[in-house]
Amino acid sequence: MNLAERDQHIIWHPYTQMKTAALPVPIVRGEGALLFSEDGKTYIDAVASWWVNLHGHAHPYIAEKVAEQLRTLEHVIFAGFTHEPAVTFAERLLQILPAGQSRIFYSDNGSTAVEVAIKMAIQYWNNLDTPKKKIIAFRDSYHGDTFGAMSVSARSAFTAPFWPFLFEVEFIDVPTAGKEEESIKQLEKLAAQGDIAAFIYEPLVLGTGGMIMYKPEVLDKLMAICQQHGILNIADEVMTGFGRTGRTFATDYLQQKPDMVCLSKGLTGGTMALGATSCNEKIYEAFLHDDRSKTLFHGHSYTANPVACAAGLASLDLLLQPETQESINHIAQRHAAFAASIKDLPQVLEVRQQGTILAIEFYDGATSYFSDLRDTLYSFGLDNGVILRPLGNIIYVIPPYCITDAQLDQVYQTLKGMQEIVAGKRQHPRPDSIMLHD
Ligand SMILES: *Cc1c(COP(=O)(O)O)cnc(C)c1O
Repeated sequence: MNLAERDQHIIWHPYTQMKTAALPVPIVRGEGALLFSEDGKTYIDAVASWWVNLHGHAHPYIAEKVAEQLRTLEHVIFAGFTHEPAVTFAERLLQILPAGQSRIFYSDNGSTAVEVAIKMAIQYWNNLDTPKKKIIAFRDSYHGDTFGAMSVSARSAFTAPFWPFLFEVEFIDVPTAGKEEESIKQLEKLAAQGDIAAFIYEPLVLGTGGMIMYKPEVLDKLMAICQQHGILNIADEVMTGFGRTGRTFATDYLQQKPDMVCLSKGLTGGTMALGATSCNEKIYEAFLHDDRSKTLFHGHSYTANPVACAAGLASLDLLLQPETQESINHIAQRHAAFAASIKDLPQVLEVRQQGTILAIEFYDGATSYFSDLRDTLYSFGLDNGVILRPLGNIIYVIPPYCITDAQLDQVYQTLKGMQEIVAGKRQHPRPDSIMLHD
């Protein structure tokens, strides 16, 4: 049996209908933006391995720092103990995070970073003896797969079996072009009712919701309304953080400052699982008390894992190099030029771009996550040596910053091929199996 067949006997993959899924692609090695499979094929990782990879695969500098840390201290309990990588990483994160953030709480993935923020927000009001019951979120949002994170996410097909178990959340429309006033009105109405603990949002780009984009000006207005009503602002920068939107954080486009920020994905450059929730001093102080019941009783076995923090520090070194910043600008410029070149093609409903994130929304009559188009486009990408995972009829590119011009050309060429398939100008065999991933 080869690797994929052995896998198929014993592994249960994420976001995968195991009954009908094609065999997984066995990857044996990565380098830069490329992944190499067991059967000798080469793939461009145009989705940065679920949006985590910033500097390319198996980066030698990160590998060296991780190896060094492994030989020094692999892990230590983080209650009652501390270590150099956690402290230095927190210091350096606070230097680049939006002004006002003053504390770092570590966890180990994006969903837990969100859970921690939600728990901080709810307990903040409890600790002040003014408990509040509700959280506001965007209708199409995605904040993770654990129960709290699911609760503040869209009521979508992903979470349908769990709806009765999710806590109630007030949803407002995403303020995309033309919908700004409506979204602001909805928030104002809710805010006036009182009883709202926090507003959680993906700043500027809603990732899993379909790379939905909106302007910083309207987010500033929403955040200002929240601030006036004492509602805590929680920025979920799990996807948008670390250069994705063209600046270090999407929040860097804003005037308003959040009370909390959730980080993961690019936090370690895609090397290790790590999450972090930062907060301002106002939140932190509400937990300082002689009464022990005011403590934030939350923690994970691998909280602030030293190897993960070492990877984060190394990734940050690379991110802050002028060369990387130039690459981010360069990718953004190339994306913009490509977007302009295809926006008027048939079946292209909309092209959206923010920094290194490019999304094309195709019109195929049925805009469903479960549409056949998704599987056809996904296989077409793989056949052309490019990993692109459509969100239904929306195809997006989120590349590692080290992607070369030639590799970007190949990605754009593949996207053009996809457009031809959608427009019916090119035949592509229907995949013999249906793959449901996000
Ligand atoms: C991916 C994602 C999460 C969840 O992160 P995981 O590490 O997959 O649990 C949360 N929020 C946003 C905006 C995300 O894109």
